[in-house]
Amino acid sequence: MEQKQYLREKLPEMIELVSHLVQIPTVWDPASAGVGKPFGKNIAIGLGTFLKLAGQMGFATRNYDGYAGEVTAGQGHRMIGILGHLDVVKASPGWSTPPFQPVIRQNKIYGRGVSDDKGPLVSCLYAMRYLMQEKRIPEGCSIRLIAGCDEEEGMQCIAYYKKKAERLPDESFVPDGYFPLVNCEKGLIDFDLLYPAVSEKGPEVIPVLQFQGGAGRNIVPDRAECILKVLPSEKDIIARLQSNPQLQIKEDEDSSHLILQTRGKAAHAMSPELGKNAISILVEALLDSGLTFSCQAFLEKYEKLIGKTVFGEKMNCACEEAESGRLTLNIGKAEQRENAFLIEANVRYPCSKNHQWIVDAMMGQFSASGFQVKERLAMDPLYIDKKDPLVQKLMEAYQEVTGDFQHDAFAIGGATYARYLPHTVSFGPLFPGEKELAHEDDEFLEIESLEKMTQIYIDALEKLLEE
Ligand SMILES: [Zn+2]
Repeated sequence: MEQKQYLREKLPEMIELVSHLVQIPTVWDPASAGVGKPFGKNIAIGLGTFLKLAGQMGFATRNYDGYAGEVTAGQGHRMIGILGHLDVVKASPGWSTPPFQPVIRQNKIYGRGVSDDKGPLVSCLYAMRYLMQEKRIPEGCSIRLIAGCDEEEGMQCIAYYKKKAERLPDESFVPDGYFPLVNCEKGLIDFDLLYPAVSEKGPEVIPVLQFQGGAGRNIVPDRAECILKVLPSEKDIIARLQSNPQLQIKEDEDSSHLILQTRGKAAHAMSPELGKNAISILVEALLDSGLTFSCQAFLEKYEKLIGKTVFGEKMNCACEEAESGRLTLNIGKAEQRENAFLIEANVRYPCSKNHQWIVDAMMGQFSASGFQVKERLAMDPLYIDKKDPLVQKLMEAYQEVTGDFQHDAFAIGGATYARYLPHTVSFGPLFPGEKELAHEDDEFLEIESLEKMTQIYIDALEKLLEE
């Protein structure tokens, strides 16, 4: 059958399957977890349903104890991989229609997970089905689709899969990013900093009773606050703080507390330069007052190493590369605890650098200044040359279907699944100019895009199957 005819014929079926999968709210739910359902009941049902339907289409399937599933076409040794995920993020109350009851309006399917990542998974499944039924998978080759189940939560799924699978695909793509193709993802380290809350002593010292800002390391904090022990009669101190327009001050007539607040601007940690860090604004405002606070040492060290910078300038770590861009540092959260100040931070670094370089260049300076550094998560950068046959074949498939020769493979600061498999890039499903809807309210998928991406995936797989 001709490809176009196949797509026309199967499109209604694909839409139905996407809708069917969206109705299973595959949100991480540890409360209902158990054997065979490590991420909760609904994710296990979603995986079971997907594998059953794939089995009915004639594919070989395997369930990896509820962590991930695989769907295989062909039996040859040379294996092309596709890696996507069946879990979705929660839906907020802001949706216009019920997120798990998909609706079609103006040629768009609305529902949680239609674009991230159930629609693309169904698209790839139908691309494989076409090649299988047309007997276009050469004898020595096979295509394996891997569906992970906690991509949004901790990516344990892919770690488990890698441990249990007999072998991994030779080269793969991840339909959970952008077209034309992402060949470069920055390295990333999530880390915590602890600074001992040794209290400054002396008659001039203003006790800081509370200090906090931010919600998590992946967002630039848009608000921060501290509570000082200052009596209403200490007019001079109050006046000095009031003279700083960055500080919003709440006085409490009856108490001895002064609440100071700062406002910043939220942004994603991968581009902190687009935000304004409320914690950094607060630290600077306190220091600018010329007063002495009980956490003076912490404030001074923060200012010395970080201040308002987001590119590691104060630590001489700033670096920039043509393809992957600049190193970025985000201080996402700070909090005064009983014995220490805790900071949650995230650094993303260009592709030619490595983990050890950051440890030497940045963490060493924090340690030397009295911070205790605890690494929480580290991901090496991903880089595949644009001249690599994998990139070239995928780009050709994209260009032939769309006629778009303008957009080139590019780099992102975010992290996709692609880092977890050998020789893998993220390829689609979002087309240039399309709005990023993953994790947003009213997530939708254009039916036209579903058809187009399937056509691209068919062509891409065919090219990858050629020796
Ligand atoms: Zn995703």
